[in-house]
This record gives sequence, structure tokens and C-alpha cells, in this order.
Amino acid sequence: MEQIIVCVKQVPDFSRVSQVPVDPRTGAIVRTGVPGILNPFDRHAVEEALRLREAHGGMVTAITMGPPQARTALQDTLIMGADRAVLLGDPAFAGADTLATSYVLAQAIHRLGPFELIICGRETLDSGTGHMAPSLAEWLDLPQITCVRSLEIRPGLLRARRTVEDGYQEIEGPLPMVISVSKEINEPRPLRLRAVAGAAVREIIVWGLADLGLDRKLVGLAGSATQVPHVFPPKPRAGAEMLDGAVPQAVENLVSRLRDLKVI
Ligand SMILES: Cc1cc2nc3c(=O)[nH]c(=O)nc-3n(C[C@H](O)[C@H](O)[C@H](O)COP(=O)(O)OP(=O)(O)OC[C@H]3O[C@@H](n4cnc5c(N)ncnc54)[C@H](O)[C@@H]3O)c2cc1C
Repeated sequence: MEQIIVCVKQVPDFSRVSQVPVDPRTGAIVRTGVPGILNPFDRHAVEEALRLREAHGGMVTAITMGPPQARTALQDTLIMGADRAVLLGDPAFAGADTLATSYVLAQAIHRLGPFELIICGRETLDSGTGHMAPSLAEWLDLPQITCVRSLEIRPGLLRARRTVEDGYQEIEGPLPMVISVSKEINEPRPLRLRAVAGAAVREIIVWGLADLGLDRKLVGLAGSATQVPHVFPPKPRAGAEMLDGAVPQAVENLVSRLRDLKVI
């Protein structure tokens, strides 16, 4: 294979924040100062790309659209073994819905050179629409298979098992193709200490609006077909008590309250 492209996203680390702040005006998640991690499904996507490289050759490119702090998610892909990492970062990209996000990703993918496969995670931990793989397939006019739990590459062809509610389906189609992967597909490799040090000094390619030659009206909030008119944070139910703070602290408080109430 020539190139496998893996789309990754940084998501809030929900084990360290109890609630992610939302801008009441735009409805967008406020990520500044919120610790982030590589979206868990995307670790499986990177792992599958690396296994395919080991079996069939080629290079693995990881790409994300996000704020500057999304670099750390890309660094994780380099630590795992990706050959190069690309950050699509520009203030004009902020506030994008899935349409505008997939548009920018698709335009950048055109610039990455010939590829046989684009791998996405099945969904993200934060927005979790699962739109990205189908949207990329549409923009790039490629076949797609979602929720892939195992796959096999034959010359010019990909055959996959995809998870459905009552079992699985077997589907095949020609390469190049877009797929999204579920967690059953593999066990991601652990991050090795030596690779961590190496990845810290590796270059991350950054492309903005001008690099991609894009029209400002088609990206970010301006290029988004959907708006978030209202955001409704969950309200505590009558008689319920909400425990604030990061998850470890909240769990400690919960256990102590349950002990006080002699429930445990
Ligand atoms: C009106 C509106 C406003 C929004 N404003 C903002 C905002 O201001 N800031 C913000 O961060 N989000 C914003 N979002 C959310 C943003 O649109 C989504 O995070 C993004 O489009 C991806 O959708 P998803 O998270 O549902 O991904 P899914 O479709 O669930 O993701 C599936 C897979 O696609 C890939 N993928 C997803 N996102 C990316 C990405 N960014 N780069 C590369 N690969 C990716 C990953 O492999 C992932 O596992 C907004 C959404 C809406 C509807």
C-alpha cells in the first residue's frame, strides 16, 4: 500500500473533568484548559493502520482538525508509530459542525497524496455523531464501510465484518475506501517510553485556511449547516444530590456519603 490515512480527534478527558463547559452563545464546547486525550476509538484506528502497514507496507499519516492543544493527540499517534502527523489548525475552523469538519478534512486529504484507505474511529466520546466516515466518503466520492470489527485486504479490495445489532455483516468493496472501526477490531499497543521521548521532538505539519486555499465561508461556524440554539446541562432530579469535582474525587465523596448513609 502507498498510504493509510487515520483521522483522529482529541476529546475531553472525562475521567478528569465532571462536566465540559459549553459556550452559552454558540453552543460550542469550550476546550481551553480542559485536559484532552486521543479519542479511544481512534487508538484502535491507529493500531489497525500500523498493523496494515506491517503487513502490506506504505506509510501511515495521522490527521486531525482541532485547536493547538490537539497536537498532543497527534503526538500519541507518533508514539504509537505513525509516520507523519498533520494538524488542521486555524481560528477560521472553530465552531465547525460535522459538515464543515468533514469538508476541511476532505480538502486536506486531497493534499496528502495517493492513499488506499482512510480509517476513522466509530464515534467520538464528546459529540459522538458517527458522521465523519460517511461524510468523508461523500466528499471524496469513495465507498465506505462503518463499524468494522475485522478486515482483510486483497489486491485492490477490502473485505470487512461490520457490527450490526444482532450480529455482523460481511461486506467488500474496492480500494480506496473509507472505514470506521469499532473496539473489537484490535488491542492497541501500549505506548513505549523510548517512543514517547522521540515523538516529543518530531515535527507536526500544520495547515490553515490559506495553505488549503479554502473559502472562509465554507469552514468553521460560517460553513456549518447546523446551529446550537440552546444547550441544556443536566438538571439534578428532585431529591438527588450532584457531586461536583473531577471523577476520582467525586467517587471518593460518593463512597463516603454511601458509608454515612449505611448503604455500604
Ligand atoms: C453547531 C455545532 C457547533 C460545533 N462547534 C464546535 C466547536 O466550536 N468546537 C468543536 O471542537 N466542536 C464543535 N462541534 C462538534 C464538531 O462538529 C464535531 O466534534 C466534529 O464535527 C466531529 O463530529 P463527532 O465528534 O460527532 O465525530 P464522529 O463522527 O463521531 O467521529 C468519528 C470519527 O471521525 C474522526 N474525527 C472526528 N472528528 C475529527 C476531527 N476533528 N479531526 C479528525 N478526525 C475526526 C475520528 O476518527 C472519530 O473517531 C460542533 C458541532 C455542532 C453541531
